[in-house]
Amino acid sequence: MAMIKILPEFLANQIAAGEVVQKPESVIKELVENAIDAEADNIFITIHNSGKDLIHIQDNGLGMSREDLELSIRRHATSKLVTQEDLEAILTFGFRGEALASISAVAKLEIRTKRRQDKLGYCMISEPNSIPAIEECDTEVGTQIFVRNLFYNVPARRKFLKSNLSEYKAILDTLTKFALSHTNVQLIFNNENNLVLNLRSDNLEDRINELLGHRIVESMIKVDFDDGIMKVKGYVAKPSIIKLSRSHQFLFLNNRNIQNKSINHAIISAFGPLIDKNQYPPYVLFLEIDPHKIDINIHPQKHEVKFDDDRYVYMTVKSAVQNALRANDLTAPVKFNFENEMNLESYKNPFDIERQQDKNDDIFVNRNTGEIVDYKESFKSNKSNQKFEKNNDFNSRFEEKRENSFKPNDDLSAFDLIFNNDVDDFKKIDKNFIQIHNKYIVCQNSKGFLIIDQHNAHERINYEKAIKMFERELSSQQKLLFEESFTLTQSEILTLNEIEEEIKLLGFDFEINDSEITLNAKPIDVKNGAEEQDFREMLELFSEYQEKGKMSKRENLAASYSCRSSIKTGKILSQKEMEMLHNDLFNCDTPYVCPHGRPVILEMTITDLDKKFGRSPDYSYERK
Ligand code: ADP
Ligand code: MG
Repeated sequence: MAMIKILPEFLANQIAAGEVVQKPESVIKELVENAIDAEADNIFITIHNSGKDLIHIQDNGLGMSREDLELSIRRHATSKLVTQEDLEAILTFGFRGEALASISAVAKLEIRTKRRQDKLGYCMISEPNSIPAIEECDTEVGTQIFVRNLFYNVPARRKFLKSNLSEYKAILDTLTKFALSHTNVQLIFNNENNLVLNLRSDNLEDRINELLGHRIVESMIKVDFDDGIMKVKGYVAKPSIIKLSRSHQFLFLNNRNIQNKSINHAIISAFGPLIDKNQYPPYVLFLEIDPHKIDINIHPQKHEVKFDDDRYVYMTVKSAVQNALRANDLTAPVKFNFENEMNLESYKNPFDIERQQDKNDDIFVNRNTGEIVDYKESFKSNKSNQKFEKNNDFNSRFEEKRENSFKPNDDLSAFDLIFNNDVDDFKKIDKNFIQIHNKYIVCQNSKGFLIIDQHNAHERINYEKAIKMFERELSSQQKLLFEESFTLTQSEILTLNEIEEEIKLLGFDFEINDSEITLNAKPIDVKNGAEEQDFREMLELFSEYQEKGKMSKRENLAASYSCRSSIKTGKILSQKEMEMLHNDLFNCDTPYVCPHGRPVILEMTITDLDKKFGRSPDYSYERK
């Protein structure tokens, strides 16, 4: 007797569903694709419980006959491919005939459909592993599909679904992609009973503005390239609206959203020195290429594609974007105009500080600026070494993060990374600070010298401040002279709702009205005029870290906030500023790592220096 059996269709479908249908978002993706393949130009979507309980989608497309309806949920049943030639040049979204079969194996499905030429439509109700029932029914031209209780019969998969919020975000992201690539389709999306998207206009610029941010197109550059083989069209951001995450990068190939590292790299590299390593320019780019020259059948959800000639595609995309930037005069070599920003007077000689004898104290005056530099000891007397060693949650988590994210390389070997040190070493310090390359602060301590990364240091200080604000030990709020209003995207609003209370504890005060937010107070540390940008970027970083999922909500928000409100690399600091930074840093609980686990301080001892210069150590330099 043969041991090998052909799998029953129902089981085969359930197995296929593992690939095609992973979460509510993938159901929606497949169903919207079907509606577009059926030439619908009006799609209406409603979800309940982030699509876990109900996904309802209605289109005004071609509809199905009774026979087609019956076949539609059978495996490998498709109206879109007939010959092998079709497979070699795919023009529709679907072609595998797997989506409806897979969905029907893991949910209760109801399809109502009617063709224009038919008087009556049909309704089919199906449940996993049973024979579907079909009846005549009165319904509108087009197709409506109800997907109820996704994965109810596969509890392991249902349990595996993420929180409502992240499933919802995934859905919103997918709909955003369709809305950008199918501007001819009116798209309406309801979450529970709330109207989330109502996209009617059919021009790309309006869609981009509606989906990615009010008037964002004004800060983007049009790309329009065609060499007869490939077209590259759409918009890329000017460097002025660079983001800190990839959330605003959209790439389409023949109107299908794709993920492709190499093309993404081509786009980024076209920007060259205009952007930094961790900066992400928003873009919405459409590539068009002869479908014979690509293969989209390499991924069950068709997110990835293969090109016949990767190199050509890379070079073409890169030069298309480069040309657009060049036409806008944006590829000129970056000028670092620190000369304008910095106070040349005080920079002439950072050591030019005069000591003047006061009654009780020495005071120090910067000869160039006349500024009195406050050198008073500002360490809290109760700060003990113990505090640094106590193995609280933060410390241990940062240690862990540091190990993951930062590996000291050989270049650093001469330097000790300081993580757990005797804080007294830092107190006994000669109070001159030198700033090098506008990013590091160098100062002497009793054993040698320290190099402090100004941005990482400030981040650490602001991070600890934020944590204190959450614990209501500290507050810092400044009313704005003029209220400031701006619109946020749906997904930003979602993030904001989630952390509204915490953001208010930081010192922001605001009201939300639909997608508009009105700021009326800000934390003192946020610079005047930077409120909107800092606020947006804080939300953006928060969602970025949230996806990585390593930090608690508060830690994440504190890290996002501190990153935005901290002084940047490249900023010239006065002696006084460096002094304050140094003092604040050593008042922190964990001064040695920034909230992202990067080191803040390096130390080189005089003994090391002596060795390097071939001297025998001169102990008189050490502790006086
Ligand atoms: P595929 O899209 O790969 O063909 P699906 O399982 O998604 O496979 O759909 C099976 C078939 O059902 C499609 O080929 C199409 O003929 C029909 N169909 C599905 N959804 C719709 C719709 N919204 N309108 C009209 N026909 C549809
Ligand atoms: Mg399909």
